[in-house]
Amino acid sequence: MEYKEAHEYSDAELIQVLTERYRPSEIPPCRVCGKSLTIQAIGGGKPTWWGCSGFEDVPGKPNELRYTKGRHGADEHYSQSRYEDRRAGGDSRVMELIKRFLDACEV
Ligand SMILES: [Zn+2]
Repeated sequence: MEYKEAHEYSDAELIQVLTERYRPSEIPPCRVCGKSLTIQAIGGGKPTWWGCSGFEDVPGKPNELRYTKGRHGADEHYSQSRYEDRRAGGDSRVMELIKRFLDACEV
């Protein structure tokens, strides 16, 4: 969409811009093994970093984790899996407001 000043957008265009900016981030799976990435670093005004940590649950021991066989901290697999989310996960409150606005428009 071409750049416009906020007051130049139609309601539909503004909803589209807001949705693209604030919808929840879609974090891709690990590029190496296809498992879900986990948050590795968050906050401080910096992008959120995701990565494939290599941890797995320990059978029979809830709340305990161990490295999957062949994995260790900050290994090659981890380095290759790292994903930077500059959108900081979106904003569910803005998405709720958009939903309510659209619901109200349809009445
Ligand atoms: Zn992986």
